[in-house]
Amino acid sequence: MKTASDAFIDGRWVPGSQRFVVRDPFDDSLVAEVTHCGDTEVDAAIDAAARAFGAWRKKPAPERGKLLGQLAARMLADERRLGELCVRENGKALKEAIAEVRYAASFFEWFAGEAGRAYGETIPGSRPEQRIVVTREPVGPCALITPWNFPYAMLTRKLGAALAAGCTVVAKPAEQTPLGALAIAQLAEQVGIPAGVINIVPTTDAKRTGARLLGSPQIKKLSFTGSTAVGRELLRAAADDIKRVSLELGGNAPFVVLADADLHEAVAGAMIAKFRNGGQSCVAANRFIVEESIADSFVARLLPAVQKLVVGRGLDAGVDLGPLVDDKSVAKVRRLVADAVAKGATVLHDSAPRGRLVGPTVLRDVTPAMDLWREEIFGPVIAIRTALDELDALAQANDTEYGLVSYVYTRDAARQVRFGEGLESGMVGINTGLVSTAQAPFGGIKHSGLGREGSRHGLDDYTNLKYVSTTI
Ligand code: NAP
Repeated sequence: MKTASDAFIDGRWVPGSQRFVVRDPFDDSLVAEVTHCGDTEVDAAIDAAARAFGAWRKKPAPERGKLLGQLAARMLADERRLGELCVRENGKALKEAIAEVRYAASFFEWFAGEAGRAYGETIPGSRPEQRIVVTREPVGPCALITPWNFPYAMLTRKLGAALAAGCTVVAKPAEQTPLGALAIAQLAEQVGIPAGVINIVPTTDAKRTGARLLGSPQIKKLSFTGSTAVGRELLRAAADDIKRVSLELGGNAPFVVLADADLHEAVAGAMIAKFRNGGQSCVAANRFIVEESIADSFVARLLPAVQKLVVGRGLDAGVDLGPLVDDKSVAKVRRLVADAVAKGATVLHDSAPRGRLVGPTVLRDVTPAMDLWREEIFGPVIAIRTALDELDALAQANDTEYGLVSYVYTRDAARQVRFGEGLESGMVGINTGLVSTAQAPFGGIKHSGLGREGSRHGLDDYTNLKYVSTTI
């Protein structure tokens, strides 16, 4: 199938009058020239989503679910091509890109079922003649804004829920990775999702497009995944029209290893939590907090695993870490490492970057004064600090403005409960380095966001409750 590079508006592929270039992060080779959507195209997409809403919301939920199921099947049948496309625009290792396609498709599968389970309720009335019925109605046309790090999954986690609920969408993918969203639109067209239900508007002017979407009274909701700084700006802008808002923002995940942990398992979990997507993930372990008494043993097991990682071109066999997405990301990671070293961190392992190919780094004796303890590293750097005991570890873990996910390794059942309850984050992984799965509610607290994606709660963000009181 030909790679789609035109905008997708009202069921038509729109070449537009301006194009922008998408380049491979590995070698800057040309991947595609993509339509840049200006105000005209964005307005056309909003109008199309508004027009399509009436019929889409009325389509019986099981029929909407069936289309989502077919979309999931198409994605899975095409996982190799979609995976390779993701490597070209994002850089990640092919095995991770294919894993992302599967993860992304799992949201269509999940919401294919949830569409038919958007239950309402009846509530006993206060008088014999009163009947109270509560239904869930779709909020309306939605704006979806997604980042470059998981070009498929960050979109399908929103799109699956929106479409299942009966909403239509205008989606703005990241400038660096618009092709994944367009590939999904291609498959949606093939399975027969009606024109106007999904509109994709790539652009080089995110700020303007965001303002256009939020300025439109036809758009009833914004769902955004990206940085906390931009999320805050969009939340302010959404206030004027009192739009519904869901935000999946940045993280600063602690990865706690307590003295009784199974260290073999803890290292395996650390490798996933840290190096998935080269560390460019909102749920990446950012701060390793290890109980002092086992810190040497943990490090001794961790280093050989880290040293085995293969850095290279994402499409090449055996590669674990592809290039970081751009030069700015490389510079940020190196700045954070340099700052930590200047402030006294001990370097246990480092690898000189080759262009955007950035190998793993392991630092010990990290302190809260170092920038990488406060900022999202978004790269393959393990920063280790020790804790005196359980209480100290918990206090360190919660000492952040973010609250997306926390990880803890301990075999002690009481500690598992205490950390499960005590960690201030929307998600907690106990003895696991991977929490993301379609049937569980994904989302953060504190500065990590508002709302939940996936799970049976994922529909809530795309529905309004309506209560009807009838006197018979
Ligand atoms: P970002 O700069 O906030 O961009 C995210 C999206 O917002 C992109 O589509 C971007 O477009 C767009 N955007 C940027 N400025 C905008 C504005 N003023 N108005 C409207 N849209 C705007 O984030 P990023 O650096 O690409 O992505 C990494 C961040 O996302 C990290 O903080 C990470 O933790 C977070 N993230 C969170 C989750 C989660 O589920 N909590 C998941 C993945 C990533 P352009 O790219 O075209 O500029």
